[in-house]
Amino acid sequence: MGNLISVRDAQDIILQSITTKTPQRLPLESMLGCVLAEDIISPINLPPFDNSSMDGFAVNSSDITGASQNTPVELLISDDIPAGRVSEMPLRSGQAARIMTGAPMPAGADAVVPIEETDRFLQNQSNIIQSETVKIFQPVKPGFYVRRTGQDVHIGQHILSSGKKISPQSFGMLAALGYSNVPVFPHPRVAIFSSGDELLSPGETFENGKIFDSNRFTIGGLLRNEGCEVIDLGIVKDDPAEIYKTLASTHQTEPDLIISSAGVSVGAFDYVKNVIEEHGSINFWRVNMRPGKPLVFGSFENIPYIGLPGNPVSSYIGFVVFILPILRKLQHLPPFNQKFINVYLSEPIESDGRESYLRCKISQDNGRWVAELTGRQDSSNLFSLVQANALLIVPAGIFHLSIGDEVKVWLLETLESE
Ligand code: AMP
Ligand code: MG
Repeated sequence: MGNLISVRDAQDIILQSITTKTPQRLPLESMLGCVLAEDIISPINLPPFDNSSMDGFAVNSSDITGASQNTPVELLISDDIPAGRVSEMPLRSGQAARIMTGAPMPAGADAVVPIEETDRFLQNQSNIIQSETVKIFQPVKPGFYVRRTGQDVHIGQHILSSGKKISPQSFGMLAALGYSNVPVFPHPRVAIFSSGDELLSPGETFENGKIFDSNRFTIGGLLRNEGCEVIDLGIVKDDPAEIYKTLASTHQTEPDLIISSAGVSVGAFDYVKNVIEEHGSINFWRVNMRPGKPLVFGSFENIPYIGLPGNPVSSYIGFVVFILPILRKLQHLPPFNQKFINVYLSEPIESDGRESYLRCKISQDNGRWVAELTGRQDSSNLFSLVQANALLIVPAGIFHLSIGDEVKVWLLETLESE
């Protein structure tokens, strides 16, 4: 066991050798979820001009101070201003301009009377003739129902910070400010493949002795959840030439990282590691953890490479412990964002002294969090991972934990607090 390295050392080695991607000006359509590489300072005012917040009539408020239901003030309709058009007729005293929500205020008007406060409410009046009049039933104060230039955002205002992911809301904000591109750290591009003669693609006819490939879907799903561009290289047979051909095909797509699963252990047909050794370099192989011990980190012809173990749970744990930090570093994010809480054990746990990540379900019991394992912890048992909402971490060097012991768990989904 001499050449096992600790989880922490493995994470450090990986992070040191990964370089952050160079910022690029990506078109707006491609930057949702990317990390901003520059602060965004507003180049414009929002709204860019004074405009009406209601469908109604733009008025000079001093004309209608005495208006009421019984004593309406009648104003001459001078113009009809839809959203998108600037009125060329300044409003004079005694006039009102019909105005729609979002339309620019005409010169001379200082407030808007909502249509509900006029005799025009609920009337069919699609064609207003300029000589027509409108009766106003309520006064408005100057500025009422007017959205002032820059009231949302003013020129020069700090809007978004470098280093933050572009959320859908920020995405809309950038569009509202007129950006067609901004400098971002692009999404990582990751090539993946599964290896093993026993693997069938879902949809293929089942044959005895074979299994359906699940790792490519778990790993591809995790990558897509992180916003990565996934290059799916499919299933590769346990054949060194085919493995090399698949790895070499990545030169066309230039991924930031290649991930494969299986074929990196000590079995007779575990060729992936040998091919990497021959055509690249291996930084470490085998980590002092459970599950996920046979994990290779190195490079294939200068592209960073991670070989995950074949067992589905091992490859999942290998991903979250070692690959998530890589993806975050590539995008200039802090390497770890996992949420941990302390919970109490509802059952005893035996461990073998390796740092262990156990599938568990945590729940509230009398105001405190308790954890129970989701069944067998065999690294091939995918269903117990599906049932888990947390990973219980047994530190290296611990062999036994008792009921009621406090342990750290890593949350896999958002918990609803009580
Ligand atoms: P290996 O690392 O090649 O020895 O594989 C370890 C175990 O993981 C074996 O039982 C394989 O059948 C299984 N395995 C390998 N690749 C996959 C995969 N893509 N999906 C599901 N199970 C796999
Ligand atoms: Mg195999």
